[in-house]
Amino acid sequence: MSTHVLIFPLPMQGPVNCVLKLAELLCISGISVTVLNTDHIQRNLLRHTNVLSRFSRYPNFHFQTISDGLPDDHPRSTARYNEVFEGMKTVTEPAFRDMMVSGCFSCKSDSPVTVVIPDGLFSFALDVAEEIQIPLIYFETVSPCALWTYLCLPKLIGAGEVPFNGIDLDVLIKNVPGTEAFLRRRDLPGFYRYDNLTNPVMQIIMNEARQVPRAHGVILNTFEALDASILDQIRSLCPNIYCIGPLHTLLKSRLPKSTQHNVSNSLWTENRDCLSWLDTQLPKSVVYVSIGSMATMTVDQFVEIWHGLVNSGYPFLFVKRPGSVTGDYDESKVPGNLVGETNRRGFITTWVPQEEVLAHSAIGGFLTHSGWNSTVESMVEGVPMICWPLKVDQNVNSRFVSEVWKIGIDIKDTCDRFVVEKAVKDVLDVRRSEFFRSTKVVAEAGAKSVSENGSSWMDLNRLVEDLKSNDFVCK
Ligand code: UDP
Repeated sequence: MSTHVLIFPLPMQGPVNCVLKLAELLCISGISVTVLNTDHIQRNLLRHTNVLSRFSRYPNFHFQTISDGLPDDHPRSTARYNEVFEGMKTVTEPAFRDMMVSGCFSCKSDSPVTVVIPDGLFSFALDVAEEIQIPLIYFETVSPCALWTYLCLPKLIGAGEVPFNGIDLDVLIKNVPGTEAFLRRRDLPGFYRYDNLTNPVMQIIMNEARQVPRAHGVILNTFEALDASILDQIRSLCPNIYCIGPLHTLLKSRLPKSTQHNVSNSLWTENRDCLSWLDTQLPKSVVYVSIGSMATMTVDQFVEIWHGLVNSGYPFLFVKRPGSVTGDYDESKVPGNLVGETNRRGFITTWVPQEEVLAHSAIGGFLTHSGWNSTVESMVEGVPMICWPLKVDQNVNSRFVSEVWKIGIDIKDTCDRFVVEKAVKDVLDVRRSEFFRSTKVVAEAGAKSVSENGSSWMDLNRLVEDLKSNDFVCK
């Protein structure tokens, strides 16, 4: 039977972006790939990108869609994301099982799926793969350090460290091996702060912790030199790990030069004028600010960050994604000095081509929500970070950025104009040479890992061989 891989991302910008990169890498290696997107994601992808023409050069690539169980006009906003999980549970899970057991991906179809690669959160997919006896490899698009805290959740609960006993968030955590010296309660994923273990998100993470170690393998967007000690810990539970990051640069290293441009997988329209604006700025002088595709901030937080940027005196590029500021934001009430200063040396827009922005020579620092893709994209370009994490894996990532890799500052749980101003000045001026050195080391290690015979290059080869191998299929 010829190899046919089905990749099934979580319906969010970060995972969809990663999955399309993995899909392209597998197509280049001659593997047949189908990407299964929710209808909602697929609509936005087709509306805002050239993904169909880009993938038309791979006859072995196909899209398939599945319902997320919600009406077309549902906002699927962060505040209502529990409804997406509900819809997926009641509609997507059974539909996926039907496709795999008796439908378009089953052994009765013309092109049966031989290996499935779902997002790590899709615990249900493992039961389906076992039912039809095909291998499953989880694709974890969160960071390895955050994944390790997920895998340790049963242990944390067993030891009484989660839920927290008391309100002091600076207590060090003892049951995430390898991190005892620096990981505090406040650095655990945001939902570990819930009092109630029956919270649906905690249940999803508990299921993930149970299922992921049972898979044939786990794919991670990292590289050995960055995460060696955490990877050793993860291997104690999941021995077969493929580290193929930084994924976006690994893809670039395998694409012919002529096709390396214009690889947007954005679910929003990108404002490319910001690149011309960056061209007018001095080298390493601009702070880039974004909280990614899902996180939100209150009007007060938005205004505090904005003041901090203006008061720092540095130029800034600020992404204000539609819906990212919650509450009653009234532009007419914004103080005149903010607007005036922004007109002089700021650029506020709704969505940018982030990889290109971070690669621009004018960027001197990145105020980020510490999503894993943003973190890796910043590392690759040697841009130091000011981390203002908001949820999910971001709290863990920001702690690793400041304490382990030492390539930025963590301002979690604080958001006032003075903290932001000081952090910007630290990164762009006071600690500039320190961060220049540390970010260079990480960026060079990342580049080496994706070059020929580098660790991620070799792990991708191993993944491709395993996917094609009959031994693997029969395991
Ligand atoms: N991104 C982008 N333009 C923007 C903001 C973000 O292209 O204006 C991309 C960014 O390059 C990254 C993804 O959106 O690949 C965000 O993923 P991340 O894991 O950082 O955060 P999430 O959105 O999942 O919270």
